[in-house]
Amino acid sequence: MKLFNTLTRRKEEFVPIEEGKVRMYVCGPTVYNLIHIGNARPMIVFDTVRRYMEYKGYEVNFVSNFTDVDDKIIKKAIEEGISSEEVSKRYIEECRKDMAGMNVKPATTHPLATREIDGMIDMIRTLMEKGYAYAAADGTVYFRVKNFKEYGKLSHKNMEDLQSGFRALQVSGEDQKEDPMDFVLWKPKKEGEPYWESPWCQGRPGWHIECSVMSKKYLGDEIDIHAGGEDLVFPHHENEIAQSECCNGKQFSRYWMHNAFLNIDNRKMSKSLGNFRTVRQISEKYDLQVLRFFMLNAHYRSPLNFSADLMEASKNALERINDAAANLNDRKNTGKTGDMIETEMAQITEAKAFAAKFEEAMDDDFNTADAIAAVFELVKYANTTVSADSTAAYAGALFDMLEKLCDILGLIALKKEEMLDKEIEELIAARQEARKAKDFARADEIRDELLRKGIELKDTREGVKWKRV
Ligand code: AMP
Ligand code: ZN
Repeated sequence: MKLFNTLTRRKEEFVPIEEGKVRMYVCGPTVYNLIHIGNARPMIVFDTVRRYMEYKGYEVNFVSNFTDVDDKIIKKAIEEGISSEEVSKRYIEECRKDMAGMNVKPATTHPLATREIDGMIDMIRTLMEKGYAYAAADGTVYFRVKNFKEYGKLSHKNMEDLQSGFRALQVSGEDQKEDPMDFVLWKPKKEGEPYWESPWCQGRPGWHIECSVMSKKYLGDEIDIHAGGEDLVFPHHENEIAQSECCNGKQFSRYWMHNAFLNIDNRKMSKSLGNFRTVRQISEKYDLQVLRFFMLNAHYRSPLNFSADLMEASKNALERINDAAANLNDRKNTGKTGDMIETEMAQITEAKAFAAKFEEAMDDDFNTADAIAAVFELVKYANTTVSADSTAAYAGALFDMLEKLCDILGLIALKKEEMLDKEIEELIAARQEARKAKDFARADEIRDELLRKGIELKDTREGVKWKRV
């Protein structure tokens, strides 16, 4: 499996630190508003990376934070006359709903910045002890950039250029910095802001230190992949590298992955430009599966322009997959019983070529556009080779293949309502068997699978009850 590493600017073979395991950190959103579909791009892209790695047999420890302390959150809290915590709690909940709608799996851990303040103070203290940080008279703590000789390695900027650039940009009130490149690790509170005690002043952390600390705590000093949107390369990720590597004395992340922007009228979609659509707005018109398909139909490193036409085209394309899956599912339930006939077995071998093509595309830096093209080849093959004469076994094998490939992309092949009662009962029976055999992981997997398909289970004294949700 090859992936493009921003650090080396090359496609590289993925080799994990620990065999069979992946430690991955994705910078999450600042929660002061409903997420927009630009924010949804890294969520969908890196969820797909995770799913593919899991399909390849890796155990993925996937960490993605919520930034729940920030100027924008404080501003919103003041506007609404409520606490910052109430603002962030509300939007974390809303964000989780949007993620579920887009079929983005919850992370292994979703840490909150405000719960990790002690770790941040510890890291800042270590950086000070090692000479990489200093406190100014008002209690602000800065990172001393010039002591980290590798600064600029991710964004491929050289220190001299950076220094003169920063000097030109220097704003008043920042003259307490030793060097214009230095950035904030800890800052004093302002009236009415949330704050924490620290050795330097009552205040709150800078944004960059949060991710270094949460990544260290949940994944360790060295991780495999760190990811986010390309606007994070500089300064956020560059600063994370400086903090983590100076604190831990080890390479922070081996691979750095960045998605390109989602644009609208060829400009970046962003809250500050006001040209955004929220995921919630899109969900009023479309199933969010359509949004997911739209995102994955482009390569993650290519800019993607949002348009109503492309969304319509995505809707139609997704329907073709769903129709094929429904048809296969029908044949699977009503087709001829018994083993596959010889021609069908040969056809299965032929169909496997599409799955191989899919993998080849995904192995090449997650080329989801080509992977989707392989799914359509399979759809076409299924539509032309399955008929009323086919065996249930043949239709079932193609169905399984299609469902598996879609699932890697986080696309649900068979729409909820098309899941028959009989299949639900069968899965429930399999879950009971798994429980009897004390295979609770499998039992939970089945319960989650059903939930993803809109079936909620309830264990009652009279047995397992289910309902569509
Ligand atoms: P923010 O809440 O602005 O920190 O953004 C959260 C994540 O969304 C980061 O990984 C950003 O890089 C990403 N992001 C924000 N806007 C866009 C956009 N228009 N296209 C792609 N990614 C974006
Ligand atoms: Zn981050």
